[in-house]
Amino acid sequence: MSMTDSAGTQADAPQTDSQAAYRDELVAAGLLIPTGVDGLYGRGGVFEDVVERFDALVTVWGGTDGAEVMRFPPALNRKYFEESEYLKSFPHLAGTIHSFKGDERAHRTLLRRLEEGQDWTEEQAVTDVVMTPAACYPVYPTVAARGVLPADGRLIDVFSYCFRHEPSLDPARMQMFRMREYIRVGTPEQVMEFREVWLRRGREMMASLGVPLEIDVANDPFFGRGGAVLSNSQREQKLKFELLIPITSESKPTACLSFNYHQDHFGHLWDIRTADGGVAHTACVGFGMERVALALFRHHGFDTARWPAPVRAVLWG
Ligand code: AMP
Ligand code: ZN
Repeated sequence: MSMTDSAGTQADAPQTDSQAAYRDELVAAGLLIPTGVDGLYGRGGVFEDVVERFDALVTVWGGTDGAEVMRFPPALNRKYFEESEYLKSFPHLAGTIHSFKGDERAHRTLLRRLEEGQDWTEEQAVTDVVMTPAACYPVYPTVAARGVLPADGRLIDVFSYCFRHEPSLDPARMQMFRMREYIRVGTPEQVMEFREVWLRRGREMMASLGVPLEIDVANDPFFGRGGAVLSNSQREQKLKFELLIPITSESKPTACLSFNYHQDHFGHLWDIRTADGGVAHTACVGFGMERVALALFRHHGFDTARWPAPVRAVLWG
């Protein structure tokens, strides 16, 4: 698929590829706006309205728990990123931000190379910021910096664009997408209870939107040969669950919500301590905003005015 193809007109669509075909339908309907890069889209007004309504619905279900709201830009302190060990597990997904650091002579070279269609990126040097890979990443070092946890731990509410370098024709696999998350930091009991509550709530909340769903154990896409071992152990220990809804395939439904238990991984990395001196455990529930919107458009159609009345009532009140 070339860059120009991925702008996605109806005529270009490889009809055999149902994902690309569905993407083109979304583009033709004005829900997604192509940019020429697979997985990078603008969003139309109707799409955004659904995202905003769903965001509000998450707050209806989670808003009375007293979570502390934090909003970070979609970039992370590179030091936090390095400390997080993300590069151990997902080097292939990371997006680091580089910028020109050369002198005037290097600048002339850059412009000449650009003009000649050659690689101009040689003088680009890494900056202090990295694209946020998951909305919860800025939270752990922030919580750690506040010192020992209060007795009831912490509950944080975040929302951010995230970047993952996974270009795809699948409209549900974007390179930049939004994640709303609740993050629990505390004792193993507090954190496990949080995840149980959200597994139940997530199912009820999504069922209220009239979409077919299942919840299943899952694993992250760990890199390399060692990755398979990590994936297996994550599944065996049931550390990750996903709420799946068919979007572009009936047989392979798409993960729209994730329920992650990190055990004491982040607690260890940043030395987060519970009130009784133990290493803090953490868990998060993540809502994939674009995927949920896409699931709703898939099952209820592109015209939100014609969505089933009960679904409209849940979202638009
Ligand atoms: P994860 O951290 O991989 O569990 O992701 C959390 C949530 O973000 C998932 O449940 C999805 O709904 C969403 N998500 C993950 N990757 C993508 C992607 N490439 N495009 C769109 N949404 C995504
Ligand atoms: Zn998270």
